[in-house]
Amino acid sequence: MIIDSLTHILPKAFENEKNKFLKKDRIFNCLFSNSTAKISSVSDLYKSMTQSEVDKSVIAGFGWTDISLAKLSNDYNLESANNSKGKLIPLCSINPIWGKSAIIELRRCYELGAKGVGELHLDTQGIFDNNLNCMDEIMDFTLSYNMPTIIHGSEPLGHLYPGKGITSPEKIIKIIQKYPKNIFIFSHFGGGLPFYSLMPEIKCLLENTFFDSAAFPYLYDSKVFKVSSIALGENKILFASDFPVTTQMYSLKKFSEVSLNNMEKKSILSVNADNIYSKVVN
Ligand SMILES: [Zn+2]
Repeated sequence: MIIDSLTHILPKAFENEKNKFLKKDRIFNCLFSNSTAKISSVSDLYKSMTQSEVDKSVIAGFGWTDISLAKLSNDYNLESANNSKGKLIPLCSINPIWGKSAIIELRRCYELGAKGVGELHLDTQGIFDNNLNCMDEIMDFTLSYNMPTIIHGSEPLGHLYPGKGITSPEKIIKIIQKYPKNIFIFSHFGGGLPFYSLMPEIKCLLENTFFDSAAFPYLYDSKVFKVSSIALGENKILFASDFPVTTQMYSLKKFSEVSLNNMEKKSILSVNADNIYSKVVN
């Protein structure tokens, strides 16, 4: 079985009203101002899953700053998943600084089937300009239902790309220390945090933390899977393409080039994600 742990789909309104939406929402502007940025529908995702033999995909939003766009995207993910016969695992996205409105939206989405929160872009969403305490209520909610929170991670070095942001390993560790019992999945190998898990004091903080490989062909040599498996353990790494940023087909091809044993491959391709999402309280 293959589970793609991070993909993005959006409803037609995001294409039809793109210019209006670019002005409304900071992260949409950041990621989609460039005319080459792809917007994919649920049928594009199904096509890709069939071609690349992906069995299940996690469908996520982005770190919205505008609540009306968040609701449009959340509803599309939830509706798509409800029609998918279990092939799509829906996440909902919110901005913790919305306060009560964020909790209301999270609860609404949970009741409609959301299995986690994300992808959040905490820097663009203004979290680091505030006190991290604004996440308390959301973290209490996700903890009580075993829901994972998926957060974009940024490499402090290397090339820039739209939406890269500044959620570096240093900031990620502060989030984990504040909410040690919560399940987190930091995208894009958490900006490189798994490498620091060779330090025992860092490794012991990562008990409930996982990392996905979203967009890895743009960021790392494929050996990143091997290196992070050695440093942190293959049970902590989730295969993800970041579709449509990278195709599922290409991501799987690059993944297949890595020298891993069958158990390690199985863990990364499906077992770890399945363990996380099967524990979410319905
Ligand atoms: Zn991301």
